[in-house]
Formats: sequence, C-alpha cells, structure tokens
Amino acid sequence: MTVFTHNDKLEFASAEEVGTMQDQLLKKHIQYCLENSPFYKERLADRDCENCSLKDLPLTTKMEVSIRNSEFVAVDSPEVADIVFSSGTTGWPTRIMYSQGDLERLAYNEECAFKACGLTASDIVLLTCTMDRCFIAGLAYYLGVQAIGAASIRNGHGTMEGHGEVIKHTNPTTVVGVPSFLRKLGYYLNEQGIDLPSASIDKLVCIGEPLRDAEMQSLPVAVDLEKIWGAKAFSTYASSETVTTFCECAEQAGGHLHPALGAVEIVDEEGQPIPDGQPGEVVVTPFGVEGMPLLRFRTGDISFVNRAPCGCGRTSPRLGPIIGRKKQLLKVRGTSLYPQAVFSALDEMHEVSEYYLEVHSDGDLSDRLVVHLSFSSQPVEVDVVLRRLQARLRVKPELIVEPEADIRRVVFTPQSRKPVRFIDLRS
Ligand SMILES: [Zn+2]
Repeated sequence: MTVFTHNDKLEFASAEEVGTMQDQLLKKHIQYCLENSPFYKERLADRDCENCSLKDLPLTTKMEVSIRNSEFVAVDSPEVADIVFSSGTTGWPTRIMYSQGDLERLAYNEECAFKACGLTASDIVLLTCTMDRCFIAGLAYYLGVQAIGAASIRNGHGTMEGHGEVIKHTNPTTVVGVPSFLRKLGYYLNEQGIDLPSASIDKLVCIGEPLRDAEMQSLPVAVDLEKIWGAKAFSTYASSETVTTFCECAEQAGGHLHPALGAVEIVDEEGQPIPDGQPGEVVVTPFGVEGMPLLRFRTGDISFVNRAPCGCGRTSPRLGPIIGRKKQLLKVRGTSLYPQAVFSALDEMHEVSEYYLEVHSDGDLSDRLVVHLSFSSQPVEVDVVLRRLQARLRVKPELIVEPEADIRRVVFTPQSRKPVRFIDLRS
C-alpha cells in the first residue's frame, strides 16, 4: 500500500486549492499515525484530532526520535525496505527505517526537485555522493534520476583524478555534490587543462552546504562554482528524518517545497509560529511516510520561508538557505551569530586555505570564539585578516595560525562523515 500522493500540478495551484488539499493530506497522515505509530498513539491520546489544524498538533524533537526510536516505527518488520542512520543528538546516530512506499515517495520527491532545476530524460547525471555507508542522500538522488528517466553515473566519493576520468569519458550534463568539494574539483580539473565552461556540464545540484546568505545573495562558493564550471548552481535541502526535499528552480531564489509531500513552518524557541521571511527553526510535517511518520518535526536548522509566488510560476513555499543550527547559536557580548557566518567570511578570503572554529564559554552570557586557520603560501598579515573578519561579523574572534596539515587533521576526521569545522567546547 502506497500512502503518498502524486500531484505535479499542486506546485502551481492557488493558495486555496493547496490549502484544501493539504488539509486532506494532513487528516490522512494523522489517522495513519494514530493507527500505526506507538509514539503518536500515546502523544495524541487526549486530543481531538478530527478537527485540528497543523498548529494544534504537538511538535516532535530530534531528541525524541533518537531516544524513543523504536516507538516511531509504524510498520511491521517484513515491510521495512531500507535502514539508514542520521547524525543523532545523543552521540549515537539515529536509526531511520523506510518502507518500499517510502523509497517510491523519495524517488518522486527527488524527481520533483530535479525537474524544478531543469533536468529532463536527456540529462546525464554524475553523482559524487556515496550510495552506501547507511546514508540516504545518494540513494535518493539516484532514485530521482531514474524516476526522471535520465542516466546516472554513480561515482560516489571518488578521488578528483577518478572524477576527472569519468567526466572525460561520459560527458555528464549535471553534477550532484557538496559545493566546497565541487569547487575543489573544478579548480583541479582546470589545472589539468580541462576547459570546463566549454564542456557538457551546465547544472550543479548542490547538497549539504548553503549557496546563499540570509539576504539570498550568492555566497562566494556559489559565485566561484558558476564561474569555474560555466554551469548554474542550484541548492537543495533535505534530511533523513523528514524525507522531504526543498530544491531551487531556475530562479535560484530558495528551495521549493512539493506541497503534496509535506508542510513547512518556521517556529521560535518556544515553538510558536514566526512570520514569513523571519528566521527561526524549520519544522517539517512530511505527508505519506509509512516507516517512521512524523508530525511537526523540529529539524534544529535555522532558515526562513518565502510564500510569495515565484518567477518560475510555482506557488509553493520556498525555504531560504540554512543559516545555522539552533544549538550552534553563538553569543558574543550581546551580538548573536551562527558559525555559518564565520565560515562564509573565511571562505571569501582566498588567502585562507583551511580553518575551523572553536567556541568556549566566557562567563554565563557570552562565548569566546577561536578561529584556527592556515594560509596559502604567500605571506599574510594576520592583523589585516582579523580586521576584515571583525568588520564582517561585528565580533572579534581570536586567531591561531597553524600548518594546514594540522588543521586538516581536525577537520577531516575519520569519526565524522562530514568535515568538522565547528568545535563546541561550551559546557
Ligand atoms: Zn521557482
């Protein structure tokens, strides 16, 4: 039994039509949770769910999914098709189970996302993300490419040399990968004499790191990517728990939600709704998930929503870039910022080759920021770098210059699946 709804036209429908459809989908989803999810049977026991709207429902936290993991499983074991792990909050990765229907939903989800950024059956898509190691992302993109009828090249976490050879022999039109890696790959291929702007690739689908800042301006990494590759860079956001993808369209102005597959809200610290356009925690209710269905899941990611119709004709809400993680909010003498702001400022400085940020407690209400960084070969005035950082961030971090190899040992640790650029030493 597949419980999700295919509805390609809903992305372009009027607000009333979307509202009516989403009310029905929510009702069906709540009913499914009440009948199949031990966690929600208990959580919703004393509520009148017959007439409630999204905002009447309780929020679900990452911690609950992690600690009461088995109670979220809503299918019997023969119906489980795939098991993955998402980075947990308890120190242990959180187990997520998908049914066959969830994998089909995932394929449809990525099909909608890829179509928004212009992919068709004629595209040849190089996937530079891993298909294994209990990740869902690589599999999701692969399923999406198949659903569109395009060709996939599953080169995974290959070396730059390996990707170079594959590109030479397969002429992909699209590359899916992490922006900072694609930038390195682009520079490497240029050094190898490959003229990327004249090559076949015209689209980069970027995962895991933002391409825009809080004002929706392109970050340096997005500008570099488009210049090096001669291709358009699109940002996409999803998580293993919500199985819901937001992807930019040709307008490159925020990731579209597919309204048949979920609802998005932005809430404050207390879980109260925040007006459109203002930053807060992203909350997602994915419709039609069978394995581990969720209601109003607090992602811990900070962004904002734009509900104005888009230039592409879609009326679906657009999610802005992830400007930080809730738990990572830094407070330095009254100024609040997220580590991402420090990373963006450092990324703009071409003389900085590697870095990570360490944060310590500096009294009850303030944090102390220490940036460990290395420079590319030319001599660099540390004071100049510090002044530029201070001007950009409005706070003054401490700088510690170290050899690049030492920094890379901290950033690229075998214990983590992603580069570690933020070390939180606050108690
Ligand atoms: Zn659009």
